[in-house]
Amino acid sequence: MNKADSERMAGILEAMGYHEAAAELEADLVLYNTCTIRDNAEQKVYSYLGRQARRKRTHPHLKLIVAGCVAQQEGEALLRRIPELDLVMGPQHANRLEALLTQVDNGQQVVATDDNHILEDLTTARRDSTICAWVNVIYGCNERCTYCVVPSVRGKEQSRSPEAIRREIEGLAASGFREITLLGQNIDAYGRDLPGITPEGRRQNTLTDLLHHIHDVEGIERIRFATSHPRYFTERLIEACSDLPKLCEHFHIPFQSGDNDVLKAMARGYTVERYRRIVNRIRERMPDAAISTDVIVAFPGETDAQFQNTLNVVEEVGFDQVNTAAYSPRPNTPAATWTNQLPEAVKVERLQELNTLVERVARQRNARYAGRVEQVLAEGVNPKNPQQLMGRTRTNRLTFFAAEEPEGCRYSPGDLVAVQINSVRSFSLSGTPVQ
Ligand code: SF4
Repeated sequence: MNKADSERMAGILEAMGYHEAAAELEADLVLYNTCTIRDNAEQKVYSYLGRQARRKRTHPHLKLIVAGCVAQQEGEALLRRIPELDLVMGPQHANRLEALLTQVDNGQQVVATDDNHILEDLTTARRDSTICAWVNVIYGCNERCTYCVVPSVRGKEQSRSPEAIRREIEGLAASGFREITLLGQNIDAYGRDLPGITPEGRRQNTLTDLLHHIHDVEGIERIRFATSHPRYFTERLIEACSDLPKLCEHFHIPFQSGDNDVLKAMARGYTVERYRRIVNRIRERMPDAAISTDVIVAFPGETDAQFQNTLNVVEEVGFDQVNTAAYSPRPNTPAATWTNQLPEAVKVERLQELNTLVERVARQRNARYAGRVEQVLAEGVNPKNPQQLMGRTRTNRLTFFAAEEPEGCRYSPGDLVAVQINSVRSFSLSGTPVQ
């Protein structure tokens, strides 16, 4: 989400006539788009800002901006901490960057952190890839997971209309993009704030309805979405993913903890049993589907036995990929105020144990690819080997392969290539094109 916001803001700056500076310390305008999901990401930005603030004392024309979730969380306090700042802007204001910079040009020091209706962005994002694009479909989150800072910094859910989303995807297809990932903090909440009930009494404009609405955009070959919430993941959605051919068989569904009491303390609103049922249903319909997840260890009060339950779920489900994190107390969240915080040493130890297991499970899962022919969408040249292209399988596995076949056929980014897999590692594959 943060990266998608960065691409949008970079697009606004380019449309205003800015271009990328050769180095961070040579730029006339520096914008840090910040993340506050964990404390170490937040601390990093303060050290970058310190360097730029010192530079501003000798380069007064420098415009210094903090955007994103740290900006939203700290607001005015950031100006007191770093008075050299020109603009502090929360994520809901990303599309207003040009208007905010006009205020800065008029000599104001601006803080834009109030609740804001997110307007459709009229400029074009400056995307890092020319093949795969993020498409925001819902901003914000109405959940209240007790560890999570997102609702307080990204605000209430705001869904874009299906028509605006489709228009954006058609534009992407016309510019040569082949894959899109629909984005939302909790993408299953898509459409809850839009009107519409079917004659059968079902809510219209769900994520499933949106997938049907955009599926036939010509030129787009693959569709993904993230992030799913186990509480809202529906049978209808699983059916749509299995019936619609462009939907990739990869699901990112955070389970966070394998223990029902911890899940309750996290206020996640589902049980381990429900999570298992979702995974089983997906695998019944799409046996080869990849499932990735997020896990937090050492949540306040987590016992050894509860941690063991998390390890058991990781082992049992056989995830293709797991984003792991030790619990980090975040401002304005209930769990940060609880007295049963675990010591740092326990966090480190549990994280290491989980990471070791995750690597073994991912290697076992990856073993199934050996010798298989996979469809890979070439996304670019391997930066470490210009003779190779890199891309991903439909199941989101990073794959490297020779750009040229022995018969002389050459492939380019954007091509869908059949690749025979001959080398399998924990987190990537290599192979040879076969046609
Ligand atoms: S659903 Fe996700 S973004 Fe929303 S509060 Fe929970 S963890 Fe945070």
